[in-house]
Amino acid sequence: MEFSSNGSELNHHKVIIIGSGPAGLTAALYSGRANLNPLIFEGHQPGGQLTITTEVENYPGFEHGIQGPELMDIIRKQAYRFGAKSIFRNITKVDFSAKPFRLIDEEDKEYTADTVIVSTGASAKWLGLESEKVYMGYGVSSCATCDGFFFRGMKVVVVGGGDTAMEEANYLTRHASEVILIHRREEFRASKIMLDRAKANPKIKFILNTVVEEIMGKTEENKKSVTGVRIKNINTGKISEIECSGFFTAIGHEPNSKIFKGILDMDENGYLITKKTTTETNIEGVFACGDVQDNYYRQAVTAAGTGCMSAIDAERYLEKVEYENQKNA
Ligand code: NDP
Repeated sequence: MEFSSNGSELNHHKVIIIGSGPAGLTAALYSGRANLNPLIFEGHQPGGQLTITTEVENYPGFEHGIQGPELMDIIRKQAYRFGAKSIFRNITKVDFSAKPFRLIDEEDKEYTADTVIVSTGASAKWLGLESEKVYMGYGVSSCATCDGFFFRGMKVVVVGGGDTAMEEANYLTRHASEVILIHRREEFRASKIMLDRAKANPKIKFILNTVVEEIMGKTEENKKSVTGVRIKNINTGKISEIECSGFFTAIGHEPNSKIFKGILDMDENGYLITKKTTTETNIEGVFACGDVQDNYYRQAVTAAGTGCMSAIDAERYLEKVEYENQKNA
């Protein structure tokens, strides 16, 4: 059986990598250099979360920072130099109950692999309001760098109290006339430097101890738009409304691990559990790296680091299997 665009390669691979953020692409680079010809399933957001960010200032090696998409492009090209290949589709189903492992993509194509590296990352969380869904893409967003431009000269709301919220709020002041940052507590999870930067920005106004109850909007000539939010002060119970044209959630992320439920061990939040100091999962030959197994550091550089680890773990596992097969032959 053959696969993919050029149709010249068999569908069995020594290493299949699911996910293409810093973890997946670094795993591809390392397993490529180990002559394992990895196949990367990049999904629909090739490059992962860094492709929806702007300046990355903390990835070592770039003294003056680098744009997120550019960084991912460089790592991908670096991996391709050593024989890695990509398919820009999602894996929708896996069967890890027997070897070789089986993977099915969204076009129902089947692949088999001796090892699988899971680097599916994490996605933005939503508040869970019905109105969020109604106005998604019509004023509701979780990506300031993607959508900030649409709110030039307008007032926008950002929800959250972590680094992402500070970063999004700061970024939005480039376009918006005013940014209202709503946070449910008095204290912030954000690092001091990010918080201080946001506090020093005259365009950002903070509303604390407050939750968003509803996003309000209208439909005119078949076009939906956000008009404001209804908020509640959790100390006083007072309900009020704020006018705004844009609404950005920045309340953290959840791991993209649904397809592994019941197959790979995960914690109560869905983060894959790996063995201490390695990237091994509960299934021998399946490894996990990056944000899908890390809810603590969540940095591009740590993701890349665990991506490297998982490639080395996969390589050593394959060597061990080969040695045992030869011994038993
Ligand atoms: P965090 O988990 O750090 O923060 C999430 C924030 O959203 C918290 O303030 C939390 O409130 C709030 N929140 C969560 N759920 C809800 C809800 N249902 N309703 C209202 N508020 C809610 O996530 P971040 O995405 O901000 O950051 C993740 C990691 O990425 C961190 O380690 C961070 O340092 C890093 N990061 C680094 C950046 C950089 O260095 N340039 C940029 C962005 C992120 P509460 O505090 O009450 O729980």
